[in-house]
Amino acid sequence: MNSSPQHVPSVVVGGGIGGLQAAHGFAKLGLEPLLLEARGTCGGLIFGAPIGGVWVDLGAESFAKRSVATADLCRDLGLKVVDPSGNSWLWSHRDGGRAIRIPHGVLGIPTDLDDPIVGSLLSQEGLARARQDLEMGPGPGADAADLASLVVARLGEEVLTRLVDPIAGGVHSAHPSELSVDVVSPGLRDALAREGSLVRAAAALRASAPAGAVVSSAVGGLFTLPRALVSRIEELGGTVAGRRIVTAIARDGDAWRVTHHEAGRAPDPADPPVPVGEPEVVTTDRLVVALDGRAALDLLRTVPELGIGDWELPRGADLAQVCIVLEDPALDAGPIGSGLLVTPDAEGAERRVACKAITHYSIKWPGVVAGTGKHVLRVSYGRAGVPTPEPTLAGALADASVLLGLPVSEEQVVGHAVIHFPNSLPPQTPAHRVRVAELTERIAGLPGFAVTGAWFAGTGLAAVIPHGERVAKELA
Ligand SMILES: Cc1cc2nc3c(=O)[nH]c(=O)nc-3n(C[C@H](O)[C@H](O)[C@H](O)COP(=O)(O)OP(=O)(O)OC[C@H]3O[C@@H](n4cnc5c(N)ncnc54)[C@H](O)[C@@H]3O)c2cc1C
Repeated sequence: MNSSPQHVPSVVVGGGIGGLQAAHGFAKLGLEPLLLEARGTCGGLIFGAPIGGVWVDLGAESFAKRSVATADLCRDLGLKVVDPSGNSWLWSHRDGGRAIRIPHGVLGIPTDLDDPIVGSLLSQEGLARARQDLEMGPGPGADAADLASLVVARLGEEVLTRLVDPIAGGVHSAHPSELSVDVVSPGLRDALAREGSLVRAAAALRASAPAGAVVSSAVGGLFTLPRALVSRIEELGGTVAGRRIVTAIARDGDAWRVTHHEAGRAPDPADPPVPVGEPEVVTTDRLVVALDGRAALDLLRTVPELGIGDWELPRGADLAQVCIVLEDPALDAGPIGSGLLVTPDAEGAERRVACKAITHYSIKWPGVVAGTGKHVLRVSYGRAGVPTPEPTLAGALADASVLLGLPVSEEQVVGHAVIHFPNSLPPQTPAHRVRVAELTERIAGLPGFAVTGAWFAGTGLAAVIPHGERVAKELA
């Protein structure tokens, strides 16, 4: 006969970066968390693997410096933080295709309209329209909920299509019309009100952020961060249980009941794991749900007080990536610096590449390949709302050859991997944020309960890491 369930001080469901940081927050407060993660390893979308003899990031590889939380966390865990090497470029399909330096800015909003790079990207009329921003005062666009409406109101259509869509759209894998201004660029709206110009607002945000590049990573790869967090949580008395899939949560008086199973392989190994075996139950006074959006909604639906109903997340893009490790001394010079984003709109010009971006990972983060003589290219595919081309090694090499301006062939390849991220990065639409705000109010009415993760806190480590730690502190 089963005795009463084990009772623990705190439970975190999901071992992505949000769940790990929530568990870390509990562990630092002596609340010995139990973290339940469905997969064999933690990290979620931050993961790496050895390809062609080199450990490389295959998911997220950097974090935005607009919040200092991630860099501080890395240093606290003993990881060194590094800025990327090399400049970033934008590939325009016009004139047979050309690479143009990404101008200084915030998500493609330039900080200086006199910058010759901005001039080379816009037509004379487009630039003249953008300059109106400097004189129009803070009113126009002040109430715009989405990034596209804000940019068009202030700077005109051309800045949207030639700068903001390629850059913000590339980072968030969604059109700027689907991105809530306040989530993708916290503080931008307030800066606009203060500065009376979107260009000056972007300049003010950049000036207040740490100097140098807008992103950093951990030396040796970002995938070292979740590993270091797992070790720290365990050192502080927490338990990280892999291959445990949570199937239900329920209120139990003032406590929470968490039902979990062993996680087995889905019939298609690319699918998330499935529950197998007998359920086990643990109870706790503090529960954090830190899952990816779809899994989170499925689990939260089992709590009637949260009123999840038929809420579905906005559809994300079907992202895919071909990671290629190769030996080619011609790449030592880094012909496209750290990498290049491909403009989505060809504006009638011939489109010579199918990918949406390429990262020259070994130039961007040289420490990862130091001494091996190898190069790493990450060729990315998939945009929201359009079918993703089937990613293949041959296709990725063809795209890389065009973008690098030199031929790279299969003979040079020492290893590669193709990774799919179907329906990924649900866009942070204004409508989604309204529902998140409503849910936040309902959660506040449930003692000992919190939710974190990118779908809830905002995409990317800069949003998820501070949020994960904050919810743990609040529950403590
Ligand atoms: C290709 C790609 C590149 C990216 N690059 C960057 C980047 O460079 N910089 C950046 O800041 N952001 C980047 N992002 C976004 C960033 O990776 C995410 O915002 C962040 O990692 C999400 O963390 P999370 O903890 O919210 O969710 P996830 O990482 O999705 O973690 C959720 C975890 O929950 C587990 N789980 C699911 N269901 C259950 C269950 N029932 N029981 C137990 N466990 C369960 C999953 O296995 C998973 O480990 C990128 C995203 C993608 C897809």
